[in-house]
Amino acid sequence: MKDKDYIVIVQCHIVKERCSGYNCESAFHERTGGFAGYPKDKAYRMLSMTCGGCCGQAVHRKLSNLIRRIKKTEAVTKDRIIVHLSSCITKDNFHAPPCPHLDYLKSLIAKLGLDVCEDTFIDEKSEKRRKEGLYRAND
Ligand code: SF4
Ligand code: SF4
Repeated sequence: MKDKDYIVIVQCHIVKERCSGYNCESAFHERTGGFAGYPKDKAYRMLSMTCGGCCGQAVHRKLSNLIRRIKKTEAVTKDRIIVHLSSCITKDNFHAPPCPHLDYLKSLIAKLGLDVCEDTFIDEKSEKRRKEGLYRAND
């Protein structure tokens, strides 16, 4: 994580039809949830994109485009980039169950030679519900 300075957040396309992504952005800004390990005093670039819809195959095309473009224009190499899969992809949550294609998404990203990790915004109430096994989507 310490060698990374370009963060890509991949979010669920379906969820993003009604979510602005604000909580992901805020979690990154505040360095909470999945971003708690990043120092606040280091400058990062951050880009968010959706998976493009089920089954998530567009992630490969979108990230591939990013890798090419950013290398050509700014000489930023893959080893400086890290991909975060948003919590609405990785966890049962208010909007929906976790993505059924999670492993596939990870394999597409790994195939591109990018590091990937799970989670962005972690809601305390939802985390409690998940731990207690009480979670039901949309309640
Ligand atoms: S993790 Fe939350 S804020 Fe981020 S895209 Fe998913 S639902 Fe929206
Ligand atoms: S592939 Fe997963 S993350 Fe993408 S739209 Fe479908 S459920 Fe959401």
